[in-house]
Order: sequence, then structure tokens, then C-alpha cells
Amino acid sequence: MKHVQGPLCTIDVGERSVETESVDGLLERSVGGRALGTRLAHDRIPFDADPLGPENRLYLATGPLQHSTMSFTGRMSATALSPLTDGLLSSNAGGFLSRNFTGTGYSALEVTGSSDELLVVHVTDEGVEFESVPDLAEATVFETCEYIEDEHGLGAEHTVVVGPAGENEVRFASIMTSKERAFGRGGLGAVLGSKGIKAITFDGDSTNEVEIPPIQMEIHGEAAQSDHIMKRQGTSSVASYADSVEALPTRYFSELSFEHIDDIDGDRIEEKKYKKGTCSACAFACKLPTKDDETGLETEGPEYETLMAFGSNSGVDDIVDVMKSNKLCDELGLDTISAGDVVAAYLASEDEFGNAELIHETVEKIAYREGIGDTLAEGVDRVHDELGVENWTVKGMEFSAHDGRTLNGQGLAFATSNRGADHMYAEFYPYEYPLVDAEDAFEKEGVEGKPPKIVELENVNVIKDSAVLCKFSRSFVDEERLATLLDADYDELLEIGSEIVALERHFNNQRGFDRSDDALPYDDQIPGFEEGLEEYYAERGWNDDGTVPDGAVDGGGVPADD
Ligand code: SF4
Repeated sequence: MKHVQGPLCTIDVGERSVETESVDGLLERSVGGRALGTRLAHDRIPFDADPLGPENRLYLATGPLQHSTMSFTGRMSATALSPLTDGLLSSNAGGFLSRNFTGTGYSALEVTGSSDELLVVHVTDEGVEFESVPDLAEATVFETCEYIEDEHGLGAEHTVVVGPAGENEVRFASIMTSKERAFGRGGLGAVLGSKGIKAITFDGDSTNEVEIPPIQMEIHGEAAQSDHIMKRQGTSSVASYADSVEALPTRYFSELSFEHIDDIDGDRIEEKKYKKGTCSACAFACKLPTKDDETGLETEGPEYETLMAFGSNSGVDDIVDVMKSNKLCDELGLDTISAGDVVAAYLASEDEFGNAELIHETVEKIAYREGIGDTLAEGVDRVHDELGVENWTVKGMEFSAHDGRTLNGQGLAFATSNRGADHMYAEFYPYEYPLVDAEDAFEKEGVEGKPPKIVELENVNVIKDSAVLCKFSRSFVDEERLATLLDADYDELLEIGSEIVALERHFNNQRGFDRSDDALPYDDQIPGFEEGLEEYYAERGWNDDGTVPDGAVDGGGVPADD
């Protein structure tokens, strides 16, 4: 089986120490990325750790496919204990960092401890250096990238950066890379911020190589020639359809379609798109550099989820206002989904839907924890009572779009996800939209017969997040091709995926998570929800209370020295 190469590099920013060690025993059963990060995190982060304490550990990793020249491989994975969900969580970002990370020669980077001064950490194939950067305190992501380019000659594609939101430990702060791409979900930016890290740079010419089978060229060629609508409109292409089937959260989840969808949908985005955008090596090029000629505003996106959170869910019908929210989140280092939903909760409490000025002010206040922003920075789960609104979260994470009240299987998948209410964990929604072959599709209503597919998708997504392969490769990389690319048996890959999902669950069980956390604000609106949950647990071999049986997991046995 193909897997990432190289030792683990551990950086303790409190001690300013660096260690490297072989993790070869783990690589065989991990592929790379998320699986590697999860195995290490499970065995090395104390079960009672404070997500914002020095004992939390953050892992960054690529996979073997970053040694290919194939489309869909410009991504990498981050794993840590999340300050938003309070559970173990992996997040995934595109952009151009993955090849530069691979150039350092490490299979994964582990960051622990906490620095008493703000740092940029420089990681190369020749070692690690610490740079004190007090002047970058509360600098935006873009300002920090500019500093690194000016002082070190490294472009944004060499960096991960946190904005003011990460430094101020906003629970849904993102880690930004390549300037506008985000490890968005779960507040991993706050974890880096809590460690006193403003940025990490990656550079090198490692000679580690992984030979990827020639099918990579076929896949790349098909991606280049495809006329898929995502190449013009990215994920925003689904907005109108989601609206038409009533799966588009609107005005803080009080409605399921938006009467102004035509003003913020994929066609409007395409009008604002002024050039092609992509991730490294990817000929599918689904990204969305956009510009508004009238105001001069430039950003990348908004993607569909941002159109939901800062558009329909906030009652905003002007695409330029949504673009501005998107840009603010990128500059300040915030997850657009959680930030938009939190702002929508605030708008609901103030009866101010559609007030774009208030929205933009509030986003800034959240990042700097000023006034009401300090409250909202804690996320909907922790402050909904204070705001007097319903708690639209799962396991503390604000909902992405593709509403489960209409797409009932996606609803169940939101509930079972170890990460909380994120659509990419199982990514079941395409099976309830007409986005997959008819023979694989499901009716939207009910969950009967869906749990085995949810389990399979959760497992295969672990492998994609470990390979690391973009999930938008779904029309180009089927199970046979995935197995060929990784020189593995598909069932063996699913087994590894299943082990990683169980490790996440086991870790979270030790922190008190159980069946009561696999819940939705609308359980009672999904026919057969409880039976579906039971079928899901049975399929996984877990206990009826949503816990992993004793002795059923093994992280791989590489505990930290301390
Ligand atoms: S499909 Fe889109 S998000 Fe995925 S790697 Fe290619 S450009 Fe990036």
C-alpha cells in the first residue's frame, strides 16, 4: 500500500525544542494525512486535555498522492482536539501548501506546548527555526503573509497563518494557508493561537519519493477535459438546486428556501469570477477568484456554504455583501460556516436579518473579541441561551448547508459525524440530490437502508483525507481507481477508515461523548431516526449507547516520550 514517507517532526514551542522520530510502524496502517494525525493524536493528547492548553497537540500532514502530478491532490490535513466541539477533529484545506510541506521530508508535523511570545516557526528539510514576531500581534492573515514574503521570500503557498481570531482564541478560528484557503472547521486556528504561533512556514527539497501508478495521468486528463459546472461555478453551482428542493437553511434555520436565491446563486458568482482558480496540480480548477468592479472588492469565493451562512441564513440578498463577509473571514482567520451561522443567530436575536453593515461589524468584533463579539466568539452552542435563540449545532459545531430536514440521510450523517454538523464528514448529500448515478441514489425522505452507505462513505472519506485526495474527485476516482492509486485492496482501505472513525469516537467517549451527542435539533422530523442510529451503531460494531466497546481500538502504540 502506498503511504506517505518520512519521520515525524515534533516541535514544542514552549521549550523551543525539536525532535524527529520514525513512525514507520504507523505509516503502513495510515496512508498519511488524517489517519496518521488521528492515530498519533489518540495516543498522545491526554483524554482530559484542555483544547486551548499546552498539552493539546496539533498535527499537519500530507499523504502519498502529494508525490503525484495529478489533479485533486493540492490538499492537506490538520488534526487536534477542537476548542469548538471539545472532541478530536480533523480539518482539510486546499491551496498550494501540500507540495511545500512534502518538500520538508517529514510525514507529519506535531506541535505542542505554548510559547510566551508570538512566533513564526520555520520548518525546512534542514531543520526548524523559531522567530519572535511581537510586531505581528493581531495582524491580519494577509498582512502576515506579506511580512513573510518580504522578510523571508516565501509566498503564501509556503505558509499556515492565523489571524486575530486565532490569536484571540475564537472557537471557530481557522488556520489559513495560501492566503485564502482554510483549515476551516473546528477552531484549529485557536489551537495554534493558544500556542503563541502566528505562522509556520514550510520549504525544502526533500528527496523522499513515492511512485504513484500511471492511472494518475488518465485521471488528470479527464479532469482537464471535463466541462463540469463546478469548473465555472465551484460549489456555488448547487445553490439554486438546494433552494428548489428546500434544503437551503434560511434566516437562522427558520426556513428552507430563500426568495432572493437568484441574487446570490452560482450564476451571480460566475458573473463576478474574473479568472481561473485552482489548487496545486489540479486541472479541475474549481476555485472562484471574484471581483466587484464597482467597489473594487476582490476575494476568493464565496463557496456554496458561505452563500448559505452569510447569504440566505443571514437574510442577505446582495452578492457583494456576501463577498465582503467572505473576505473579512479570510483576512481575520474565521471559518465562514460557523462565523456566518453565529452571526445569523445574533441577527435572529436582534431581529436584524439582512443588515449587511451590522454583519460586517459583527464579524470584526468576533475576531477581536470586542463587545458582543466576545460572546459570539464562543459559538452558538455555548451562547444560544444568552441570545435567546435555538441551538443549531451538533456536538458544538454550527451546521453547514444541505439541510437534513429535507435530506434525511444527510441529517443522520450530521448526527453520527464525530466532527459535528459538517457535510464533508460522510458527504451523504450527493446521494439524495441527483448528483450521483441513479443506481446509487436514495430518496430524500427517511433513513431506512442508508446507515451502511453512511458508514462506507465515512470510512472512504478518511482514506481521501489521508491520501490526501480532494473529495470533488468523486466523478473521476471511483473505488477501483482509488485502490489502484494507493496500490491497495479497497476493503483494506475501508477497514483503515473504520479504525480511524472508531479512534475519533473512542477519544471523544473518554471525554464524555455518547449517544446523547448524536442528536439533531430536528430528530423528531426524520422518520425512523432512532432506528437509523441503532443500525449505524450495529454496522460499526459499537455499543447501543454510541460508545466504542472496550479494547476495540488501537492507535498504533506510539505514545509521546513525556
Ligand atoms: S477540485 Fe477544486 S478544491 Fe479540489 S483540489 Fe481541485 S481546485 Fe482544489
